[in-house]
Amino acid sequence: MLTYSEIMVRYGELSTKGKNRMRFINKLKRNIQHVLSIYPDVHVTADRDRCHVYLHGTDYQPVAESLKQIFGIQAFSPVYKLEKDVEVLKKAVQEIMTDLYHEGLTFKIASKRSDHNFELDSRDLNHTLGDAVFDVLPNIQAQMKKPDVTLKVEIREEAAYISHEEIRGAGGLPVGTSGKGMLMLSGGIDSPVAGYLALKRGVDIEAVHFASPPYTSPGALKKAQDLTRKLTKFGGNIQFIEVPFTEIQEEIKAKAPEAYLMTLTRRFMMRITDRIREVRDGLVIINGESLGQVASQTLESMQAINAVTSTPVIRPVVTMDKLEIIEIAEKIDTFNISIQPFEDCCTIFAPDRPKTNPKIKNVEQYEKRLDVEGLVERAVAGIMITEITPQAEQDEVEDLIEDLL
Ligand code: ATP
Ligand code: MG
Repeated sequence: MLTYSEIMVRYGELSTKGKNRMRFINKLKRNIQHVLSIYPDVHVTADRDRCHVYLHGTDYQPVAESLKQIFGIQAFSPVYKLEKDVEVLKKAVQEIMTDLYHEGLTFKIASKRSDHNFELDSRDLNHTLGDAVFDVLPNIQAQMKKPDVTLKVEIREEAAYISHEEIRGAGGLPVGTSGKGMLMLSGGIDSPVAGYLALKRGVDIEAVHFASPPYTSPGALKKAQDLTRKLTKFGGNIQFIEVPFTEIQEEIKAKAPEAYLMTLTRRFMMRITDRIREVRDGLVIINGESLGQVASQTLESMQAINAVTSTPVIRPVVTMDKLEIIEIAEKIDTFNISIQPFEDCCTIFAPDRPKTNPKIKNVEQYEKRLDVEGLVERAVAGIMITEITPQAEQDEVEDLIEDLL
């Protein structure tokens, strides 16, 4: 039985990036290494034109599933590595085509020879291997234009390679090639989707999560971490930053009118996220706001909340309908985590009727009652950072299986 020995990965948009090319390639290689770290025997290398994923006995299928998700990959092909021997190659193409064969199937052999000492040139090799296929499948049809199967045979210095499949990748840009952004990650449906979309365009995200224990539970925190873990499959490890938010929420609750509670809370979140961004060399803030969805997401609210910073705030889902967002959440497998019923810090003191058109003048007046700078400083000083890896997701699956047995 033939088994795939490696997967050849073709780069996406990055091929147009001129002299930055190597930087892009190295980022992509590192991302692939992170994501595939759940397969300990897999080894990844990269050169200017291709990235090679060596399977070393690892099952092809799950690795392919992981590769399909990684941003910056245009397409990839599983490859058989074989001895440079005509008889071995004949046997291989016979086996592959017998496996794929169904009535009416068309094929062609496309050989390439970079080792010019090999006994046959590419034309002869096409004929020899084509004949070998006809020997075992007399009814198969050869077709030069758009055949169902193109068997690519490459004779290189070190070995011969055969591939016949090209699988489409996720596209996008390798995570990290666009710089770093802070994703404000709640436990809701929208912010993980916003994070996913930012990752797609190459932003290396760090997840900032506000927690207000004991009002918010350890379960709510774990939920945000689980969501972060789901996002690691697109480009690798993500730093998770937990911000202690209890003191601020209690202060606001005690000193500001209820109608303005939400606006004030959001302004603090924005300030703190921006401060963390600054010390961690981020360039933007990303959140999951969607226009008109809730009181904090009117244009007036956005303006009042956004007024505390001049840092660009990216809102990838701002113009999407809830159903469109949910569709993506299901696709990226975050939806079922997001709907777990844990209270977010924003809902704990949430007023029945938050202001949908807060006035900045009033907001600033109420903030005078608070030690804004001190509160922000203490929250930033109290952050806890953990690195979330895809590995842990695998561990969880194993735990789950163990529990079941
Ligand atoms: P989500 O589904 O992402 O929670 P939402 O529609 O429920 O969004 P809000 O809860 O008002 O809307 O939050 C708007 C945005 O504010 C979120 O998408 C997120 O970016 C940010 N945010 C809200 N709560 C938190 C939190 N506890 N930690 C970090 N960011 C938060
Ligand atoms: Mg929410």
